[in-house]
Order: sequence, then C-alpha cells, then structure tokens
Amino acid sequence: MDGEFTGKEIYQDLFSPRGYLDTYYDPKKGILVTDGFLDFALRKLHEAFTTRGVKGEVLIDIGHGPTIYQDLSACESFKEIIGADYTDRNREYYEGALRNDPGTFDWTGVIKQVCEMEGKGTTVEEKREKLRNTVKRTVKCDVTKSKPLHPLVLPQVDCVMTLGCLECACKDLDTYRDVLKNISTLLKIGGHLIITEILNCTTYYLGGKWFSCLSLSEEFLRNAITEAGYAIIDLEVIPRPYDKDQYRLCDHDSSFFILARKVRDI
Ligand code: SAH
Repeated sequence: MDGEFTGKEIYQDLFSPRGYLDTYYDPKKGILVTDGFLDFALRKLHEAFTTRGVKGEVLIDIGHGPTIYQDLSACESFKEIIGADYTDRNREYYEGALRNDPGTFDWTGVIKQVCEMEGKGTTVEEKREKLRNTVKRTVKCDVTKSKPLHPLVLPQVDCVMTLGCLECACKDLDTYRDVLKNISTLLKIGGHLIITEILNCTTYYLGGKWFSCLSLSEEFLRNAITEAGYAIIDLEVIPRPYDKDQYRLCDHDSSFFILARKVRDI
C-alpha cells in the first residue's frame, strides 16, 4: 500500500465481493467477526429498530457492499428498503444474496442470531422472505456527489443507514463532512441516520489488493454529525482486541455506532 487514496473507479474495477466477504465476514476467521464488530452491529441495529423505535416507510442502505446482515432488523420496521452502492458488482452480489442464489455467501448463522434476538420464533426461511420482500431494489449511488442518487430523484426518506462505507469513500475529513451533507439531502427532518465506522483505520486488504481507509476518531464523528444538523440519540464505541496477523490486514482499533435524528437542513 503506497498511502494513496483508493477512489471509486478502483472500487468499480477491483473490489471483489467474495474476497471482501471471505476476509471480513467468514464465520470463524472473518476480521469483523473475530473483532466483535458484527455482533456489535447486529445488537445496535436490533436496539435501534425495536426499543429506540426507529421505523417508517422507506430506509436507504447506502454502501451496502455485498453484505445483507445490516438489513435483517430494519426489514421488520420499514415497508421498503432501497439499497444503494457505487459498484455494479456489489449491487449484483447483494441482489444475489437477497435471493440466496446458490454459491453466494452463507448468512444462515447470522440470520438465526437475529431471529433469536427478536425472540418471535421467526424461522430463517421466513426472515429471508421478509428481507427479499422489503428490499425492493438497489440503485447506483455516489456519496461524494451533492445529489448521491442522481439521476434518480426520490422523496426524502425516514431513515438513511450507512455501515462501513463513508470511511472508504472519503479521501479526507473535509470530504467526510461534505458527504454527510450529501446523504442528509435524502433524509426528512425528524428522520434517522445510522452510521457505523471502524476507527483509526488507514488501510485494509481484500482479494489481493490494498484499499485506503480514512482514519476517523469518535470525537471527529460526534462533532461532524452534530454540525451536519443532527441530534445524537445513541453513540457507542467498542475496542478491538490486538492480534498481530489481523491488524496487518486491517488496522482499525475500535468500532463506532451512532443513531441520530435530523433536526435541521444545513
Ligand atoms: N456495508 C458493508 C461495507 C462495504 S465496503 C459492510 O457493512 O461490510 C464499502 C462499500 O462502499 C463498497 O460497497 C463500495 O462500493 C462503497 N463505496 C465506495 N465509494 C463509494 C461512493 N463514492 N459512493 C457510494 N458507495 C461507495
């Protein structure tokens, strides 16, 4: 890794959905599994969509990549989820994962975990169907554009969610602030924003290639999100245990979750 920013064209050409899933979400060795991120994200999302009462008509899941775990709780509280990502390959993979196409990554264990947390006796098959029926489509999106879904125009939605995407998409902290404004244009006043990020990460590896990551701190995020017109409802950071081999592949030291309500346009 030469320290250069990995732009969206490189994501389009070289980001391997399967390489990402195998390195980060493998049930035994995945970096975001062993460091506690996945359990943390599932728990915080479950809380947001139940006890915190986040619900509504439409939620946009920005930068979903090839993963579907993030929509498993949301699909119980929203009538419609719209996926949005920059790369064609990630949108195709996401659609295949929703259909549970043969050969796609196996989320069964994660789906079971969410059904158990919900405690309503939902089966894995029922959850898959609910998810498939709720995620109606995924659309091209570039968060660095002032109109991220251009040329698509949508009425403002009730919830914008973005997990592990903005630290990949932004080359510096000023861009991150701008990107918060860009994605806020999609959200109604009173609607909810959910963000997770890995903190203090500079690079990450997948499928034979290094990608850059913008190093973020809790303090920066707290300030930037507040300045973007939000009231913070819930914010939690969990540390990552040290592991030399895993830190070599991806060097974040903690994970961050925030739930905030949009109080004004800026
Ligand atoms: N949500 C996934 C993260 C996927 S990795 C998870 O929780 O694990 C980061 C994602 O950001 C990739 O899918 C990539 O295509 C997307 N991305 C990168 N730059 C982007 C941009 N400018 N606009 C929208 N998405 C972008």
